[in-house]
Amino acid sequence: KDYHATADRYETMKYNRCGKSGVLLPALSLGLWHNFGYVDSLQNAREILRCAFDLGITHFDLANNYGPPYGSAEENFGQLFKKDFKPYRDELFIASKAGFDMWPGPYGNYGSRKYLISSLDQSLKRMGLDYVDIFYHHRPDPDTPLEETMIALSDIVRQGKALYVGISNYQAKETVEASRLLKDMKVPFILHQARYSIFDRWVEDGLLETLGNEGVGCIAFSPLAQGMLTNKYVNGIPADSRAAKDFTYLDKKEVERNLSKIKNLTDIANQRGQKLSQMAIAWLLNRPNVASVLIGASSTKQLKENVGALDHLQFTEEELKRIDANS
Ligand code: NDP
Repeated sequence: KDYHATADRYETMKYNRCGKSGVLLPALSLGLWHNFGYVDSLQNAREILRCAFDLGITHFDLANNYGPPYGSAEENFGQLFKKDFKPYRDELFIASKAGFDMWPGPYGNYGSRKYLISSLDQSLKRMGLDYVDIFYHHRPDPDTPLEETMIALSDIVRQGKALYVGISNYQAKETVEASRLLKDMKVPFILHQARYSIFDRWVEDGLLETLGNEGVGCIAFSPLAQGMLTNKYVNGIPADSRAAKDFTYLDKKEVERNLSKIKNLTDIANQRGQKLSQMAIAWLLNRPNVASVLIGASSTKQLKENVGALDHLQFTEEELKRIDANS
């Protein structure tokens, strides 16, 4: 069936300015790391993307190696983009990245100019796009001079293959250096993508402050700690969950270790009249310099629940203290 986006799609979503830039991002963005590969149902992927856009989620986050197999999330996205989203290209903000293992041999990983430029060319082909809205270096590379990586990002912008650039998983000090190089070249560096949730606060140790000083927004990934900060695992590990999968980055033992905190946090959320997932997202949206919360979802039901976070964003001091005690 043909897709027509809902007419009221911009009515409930909130949009936040991304650092000191002209770009507004939806408070919730959708990541395609899981659930969009060849191993997954294309029909489900299609429903999730349509539902997201209907809810005002204008930002989709991809990377060269999302799948599995590598590249397949971009391929599937490309197919669905062609069928459903082509008329809406200018209403979408689409990201890709390179920095992790992608193809064999010395040129398919880390941070060389050779890797970044060829990888983005491949991503554009897979997605059937002329350009991405933002292209990220996915992780710092200690062995490639930072200048080489940043010049590659700059040239990508000059070539018209990305409108903006970002970095991901860089520490505060590396971020300042990257920012200086990019500013010198007048490249629009607008986002840092970092893991951030009630359970993982590493960005509070200097990075968020640095981003504020540099005028760069933070987009927080794995805001639900890959599903732990939801009601998913409260009664054990369901067979269809990420933690139960063979190919996974979410360790069952970690889920078990966090169980009592998850239960306490669930109580706090319930007292606020919210689901834990919603509280975890609302909590992040109150942190300084967080422009968007980058969620994943394996169903439209999860997606709708998560967007419901916007119904209650305020916290009392007491609630914040209780959350900190269970982080
Ligand atoms: P989340 O922490 O949001 O976890 C998403 C998963 O949690 C879902 O796939 C689902 O898993 C479960 N879930 C979500 N909502 C609910 C709900 N309401 N109730 C129950 N379970 C729920 O984020 P991700 O770890 O998926 O990361 C999000 C995005 O961030 C990625 O897609 C990617 O774009 C980006 N990212 C970037 C990285 C980087 O290095 N730059 C690294 C990692 C992610 P289930 O399958 O169990 O249902």
